[in-house]
Amino acid sequence: MYQLGCKVDETRVDGNLSAVEKDLQTFKEWGFQVVELPVHGLDVIVNGKIQQNKMQQVLDLLVDFSFQYSVHAPNPINLMDQADPEIHFQVLDSTLQFARKIKSNVVVYHAGRYIAEEWFPYSNQDQLNDDLILLMLQQEITYIRKLADKYPDVMICIENARPYTFYSPYCYAENIDSLLNLLETINRRNVKMTLDIGHLFMAANFFGYDPIEAINKAKPFIQHIHIHDNFGKSILFTEKQQTHLLPFGKGDMHLPVGFGSIPFSDFLPDCLSHYDQFIIMEIRSRYFQDIEESRKNLCAILQKNLKDKE
Ligand SMILES: [Zn+2]
Repeated sequence: MYQLGCKVDETRVDGNLSAVEKDLQTFKEWGFQVVELPVHGLDVIVNGKIQQNKMQQVLDLLVDFSFQYSVHAPNPINLMDQADPEIHFQVLDSTLQFARKIKSNVVVYHAGRYIAEEWFPYSNQDQLNDDLILLMLQQEITYIRKLADKYPDVMICIENARPYTFYSPYCYAENIDSLLNLLETINRRNVKMTLDIGHLFMAANFFGYDPIEAINKAKPFIQHIHIHDNFGKSILFTEKQQTHLLPFGKGDMHLPVGFGSIPFSDFLPDCLSHYDQFIIMEIRSRYFQDIEESRKNLCAILQKNLKDKE
C-alpha cells in the first residue's frame, strides 16, 4: 500500500529552520506520516559541502517528529553540465549524505538537461549535436552509477521533466521512453524513477504522446510519485509570475489535486497497482492552506478507484 505525504516547500522556508519546524508541526496536525524535505531549503549544503552545524540543527529539529522522509535534491543539479560538472556531482553526493543522515532512503533528482533552464535565453538547440548529446548522457550515466554504488542504501529516483514552449526538447526525461532507456543503461538496483504526474500530463500534451501508455511502460521503474494539478498548458521559461499565469491556466502550476484538469482517475489506477512507496503532493507554497483539500480530493479518487476494482 502506498503512503501519502507532502513536501516542505523550499521557497516558503528559505533556509529558516523555524519555518520548517512550523510546517512540520502543521503536517503532523493534519495527520501526515511522510514528508519530502528539500535539502536546498534548509541551507545544509554550501558550495558542494554539508555544513556540519546546520546538519546538526536539522537533526535536532527532526528528533521531535516521527515522519518518514524522502529528500528532494536541489533543482539546478545537472550532471550533464559541461562548464563545471564536478560541483553538480558534489552537490548530489552531499544530498545523498544528507538523506542517509536523516535516515531517508529516497532522493529525487531532476534528470540532466542538455540545455539547463537558466541558459535558455542564451542557447538554442542548434548548438547541440549528436556527439555532444551522447557525451552528456554518458556523463550522466557515469556520475549516477558512481553515486549509486557509493550509497547502496539510498534509492536515486530520476524525475521526468516538464516541457517548455520554444525550448523543448531540452531534457531527455520529457520523454518517458528516453528516461526508461537511460535507467536500463545505468542498470543499478537503486536507480529508479520519480513519476511526476503533473509533468507527465504537460509533456504528453506538448509532444502528443499517450500518458497512460507511458505510465504502463514506466510501472516497473516507478519508486516515487509526485502529484499536483495543472491544465497541461506549457509556457516559456520566462513566465514565472503565478498571478499572471493562473487566470489563463498556464504552466506547471503545482495546484492542489482537483484544482486543474488532470484526469487522475485515468492515470492513478495504472500506476498504483502493486505500488507500495510514497506519493508526495508537491503543492506550490501559495496553496499551502489548500493541502488538506488536495488530500481529500486525492483520497476520494483513490478510494473510488479501489472500489471500482473490487
Ligand atoms: Zn516533481
